[in-house]
Amino acid sequence: MNPILSVLKNHFGQLCPGHAQCPSLQQRLSLLEQEREFQRMQAEYLASHDALTGLPNRNLFRQHAIECMEAAREEHQPLALMFLDLDNFKMVNDTLGHVAGDALLVEVSHRMRGILGGEGFLARLGGDEFGVLLRGGGVGMFFELAHAMIDVIKDVYDFGGQRVSTIGCSIGMAVYPDDGEDVSELLRHADAAIYESKRAGKNRVTRFHPDMHRRLVRRSQLEEQLREVLRTGEGLSLALQPKVRMKDEALTGFEALARWRIPGQGAVSPMEFIPLAEETGLIVPLTHFILREAIWRIAEFERWGWPELSMAINISPRQFSRPDLESELLRALEEFRVNSGQIELEITESTLLEGNKVIDRMHALSHLGFRLGIDDFGTGFSSLSYIKRLPADTLKIDRAFVTELEHDRDDRMLVQAIVGIAEHFGMDVVAEGVETSQQRDILREMHCGLGQGYLWSRPIEGEVALADYLQRSFTVADYLQRSFTGEIEPINTGIATDGEGNPMPMPC
Ligand SMILES: [Mg+2]
Repeated sequence: MNPILSVLKNHFGQLCPGHAQCPSLQQRLSLLEQEREFQRMQAEYLASHDALTGLPNRNLFRQHAIECMEAAREEHQPLALMFLDLDNFKMVNDTLGHVAGDALLVEVSHRMRGILGGEGFLARLGGDEFGVLLRGGGVGMFFELAHAMIDVIKDVYDFGGQRVSTIGCSIGMAVYPDDGEDVSELLRHADAAIYESKRAGKNRVTRFHPDMHRRLVRRSQLEEQLREVLRTGEGLSLALQPKVRMKDEALTGFEALARWRIPGQGAVSPMEFIPLAEETGLIVPLTHFILREAIWRIAEFERWGWPELSMAINISPRQFSRPDLESELLRALEEFRVNSGQIELEITESTLLEGNKVIDRMHALSHLGFRLGIDDFGTGFSSLSYIKRLPADTLKIDRAFVTELEHDRDDRMLVQAIVGIAEHFGMDVVAEGVETSQQRDILREMHCGLGQGYLWSRPIEGEVALADYLQRSFTVADYLQRSFTGEIEPINTGIATDGEGNPMPMPC
């Protein structure tokens, strides 16, 4: 029984010891009344407390926040409202089971109580989320206590010899009166702040700032719009970034990049909607769209007379671990009659952090004939030993190393080292973000095989622009022939144009 309930029970028990023997009607009635009162208090307690930790629940937290705010207003004191969310809690639940998960939540509540002592009000708001109210002191003290809570929560947990050291927490804080004038506003703003904390990485406390609210509102609007767009497909498209062979600038293929336009509002930056899609799980239908479009596009190129082009497709860590990735790819290959060797799946180093499962998946895809590329190489996971075990075909040098190549000796050194690693392991190497001919020349000297960047082309959107680009390009295979004759084959895209490259309206 919950400790508080047992106190209540004892209390009523003592009012009438040995009540079974109470003979008089008066006493029985009184006993019944007390029993009813007990049941009322019990129901009230259960409605306002969390059964697992015995802490106040979300209802009581809100009610108490209103009372605290009134008191703070009268006494001209600041009030901090904090949300605290555990990081990696799900992992404990998934790997050690729900009993360990529950024990962890109880232990966390003890540790937090230990830090807060008599200060403040602690509640479990649900799942792995807690709420804290602190009054008096000042913002400095609020931060101090928040950091102290982070420190105790990230400490090791021991469940019968099973040690867990990966738990952390994120805290969002809103302070009355500066960050909100009523409880609803403080709650909303603490929520916006915790979102920022989580985004910035775990074990952080973030105080609300007005920009956060604006960002959060935009984010939720965008999420809704993206959901809708993924249902209809309208507004989404692919832009293709050409990839060229460095020594002669022959076109070898493209990287497929998602683009999203909202009618009347313009383009949404991929820097905004790709992370949003990752956070919300919409990356799954988004990748599905990109895969199909990209594979269909290869088939189209073949129809246009360009059969040998490759297509690089970025796969997020979340998507890479989905069990149906292979079947999804194979279905699209079959539907559009495309060869798996023309597809290069780009994953980032952070995907590799997921461990052996990822490497098994890479081997499986490699056996199916897909090429695999490590994107943004050198900017993520620092251990190089994994390279030996990977069936990767390509390393992509991040643009961060290329931008200052002409001026920065350190960057030249690093790029040379990456090219050396790729060469040693028999991989191709692609430099990203090549913008100047000096950068190209340096990369050529270093024997960097492939490049992409604005020097050759921006990402290309639309049939006409693609056809136009191909018209001016040549591939590795026909390089000799075309450079010898100087002849460029016209491409039949099946699209009627007005002579200046603009598509003609379709006849009714
Ligand atoms: Mg990429």
